[in-house]
Amino acid sequence: MASAPVGDDVYGEDPTVNRLEALTAELLGKEAALFVSSGTMGNLSSVLSHCGRGDEMILGDQAHIYTSEQGGAAALGGVHPRPLPTSHDGTLDLDLVVASIRPDNEHYPRTRLLAIENTHNRSGGRSLPVEYMDAAGRTAHSHGLKLHVDGARLWNAAVALNVSPARLVQEADSVSVCLSKGLGAPLGSVVVGDPDFIQRARRMRKILGGGTRQAGIIAAAGIVAITEMIERLADDHANARRLADGIAKLDGIVLDPETVETDIVYFELHRDDITPAQLSAGLKEHGVLLNPSGGKLLRAVTNLAVSSADVDRTIEAFSRVLDSGAAGAAADALVYG
Ligand SMILES: *Cc1c(COP(=O)(O)O)cnc(C)c1O
Repeated sequence: MASAPVGDDVYGEDPTVNRLEALTAELLGKEAALFVSSGTMGNLSSVLSHCGRGDEMILGDQAHIYTSEQGGAAALGGVHPRPLPTSHDGTLDLDLVVASIRPDNEHYPRTRLLAIENTHNRSGGRSLPVEYMDAAGRTAHSHGLKLHVDGARLWNAAVALNVSPARLVQEADSVSVCLSKGLGAPLGSVVVGDPDFIQRARRMRKILGGGTRQAGIIAAAGIVAITEMIERLADDHANARRLADGIAKLDGIVLDPETVETDIVYFELHRDDITPAQLSAGLKEHGVLLNPSGGKLLRAVTNLAVSSADVDRTIEAFSRVLDSGAAGAAADALVYG
């Protein structure tokens, strides 16, 4: 990063950003690419490049774009979201997608875009297979829609499925991928597509405040991310599975380790004597960070800073905190009983 050659990326003159964009486009089998500051900016620039005000986008009700990006496409671009129920494996029923495409009628918005997510974060980081990705593309294109893939975690899907990232998004018109998350760069995402699309996305990036000057400092880390950090995601996946297998046996943890395909472990805590927030706080005292995600749900994510020995220590910490939850409840029962 310190020795990266830099220039003004707003003028397209930062050689390190240009190299990152060329490498990412090649890796994803598309003609052009655009560096952006975050996954949210990548998705928003993409959606706003495909859809104008009053146009409609079909997406899943558990999609990150729908649940966790402030409804930016609606708030800033007047794009109408049409959320469909997300299946437990992160897919959308493509027959339902077709049934949801609006006929030409002045009462309706015009359906322009289908957006899918791979891996699907809220379904537990599950991978959508090549056949589904292709079918989603065919469905969109045969009805005149574009296909956007929120591929913040696409690298995990490619590694888990043992296919190239390019093959996974062969039918997509645009893809947004993260350089941080599992790949470990400090920040940054890249959007890919055809040159016309990327030119529009470039204008959107600018209006969103994402045109930056010596961004090569960051892009240099992005180049390391995409050239050196993808294959090792398999370690994160193995560690997540190890964690899932370890904690699934503990009292009150509800989890099917078979559903853990990548680096995310979602589980429910079914205990009367300890809440998800208390479990999270207890684990923090053992140096393990894990967020309660609402209701009984918690989410653990492995990453390059977590070794298999760390996972074993984490399982041990879980069982201590859960045991002390029961002990605490027993003590309370003595005092108040
Ligand atoms: C993290 C994530 C994003 C957003 O990325 P940010 O860089 O946090 O804005 C988008 N989609 C999915 C599926 C993600 O996991």
